[in-house]
Amino acid sequence: RQDIGKITTGTNCLDTLFDGGVETQALTEVYGEFGSGKTQFAHTLAVMVQKPKTEGGLDGGVLYIDTENTFRPERIVSIAQAHEMDPEKVLDRIIVARAYNSAHQTLILEEAGPIIEENNIRLIVADSAVGLFRAEYLGRGTLSNRQQKLNHFVHMLSRIAETYNCAAIATNQVMASPDVFFGDPTRPIGGNVVAHTSTYRIYFKKSGKKRIARMVDSPHHPEEEVIFALGEAGVMD
Ligand code: ATP
Ligand code: MG
Repeated sequence: RQDIGKITTGTNCLDTLFDGGVETQALTEVYGEFGSGKTQFAHTLAVMVQKPKTEGGLDGGVLYIDTENTFRPERIVSIAQAHEMDPEKVLDRIIVARAYNSAHQTLILEEAGPIIEENNIRLIVADSAVGLFRAEYLGRGTLSNRQQKLNHFVHMLSRIAETYNCAAIATNQVMASPDVFFGDPTRPIGGNVVAHTSTYRIYFKKSGKKRIARMVDSPHHPEEEVIFALGEAGVMD
């Protein structure tokens, strides 16, 4: 079995929260309301994983499963520049797989093995992992049918992360201010399937121009909050 790797987030505060960085052989769920920084965080990791090991990366490539057309090459360019990396080379090592529907999203993962091996992929991003499932199964079929399909996807993501020594990130949008409505901000609505399968869960919250990140339910991280910012360099201290 290979050693677990860690990917620096490029920020001291989030690295502290993650106890060094985002781990391989694990699925990390990032959830929070719109605009809280989930996609920016994923873009930042897609750059940082490419850093050499001496600088907190894994010298690895990225498989970015893009479900809602949220991948932005220009953000990668600006984050790479901020971290003194060659933007062209960084973009070259990110394989973007656009998922057209939830079945296609699942198929991409089913066929990912050889792509991961050939390209030394160390990070898999499923941005808005739940979005297509949520949209497609709205008002048709049963809820359990949707949950079953989503469950299959999330378990496969987790298994691939373990098999290929990759970090897997699944982002999940939750309603704004769930704490106001439901009393517990740590519980994503309709996204519990992802929560059950995730090794680590992190909650992002807007606070004016700043953002708050909280590690939730981790067996060996302190329940802690840090404040970070979003900017040209992606997530920032
Ligand atoms: P959603 O649930 O809608 O997908 P999200 O959590 O993925 O939301 P992001 O897209 O990661 O949210 O964050 C959007 C925020 O990132 C913007 O509101 C802005 O504050 C910040 N942002 C994006 N690009 C830049 C940039 N180039 N410079 C500074 N801040 C930026
Ligand atoms: Mg997003």
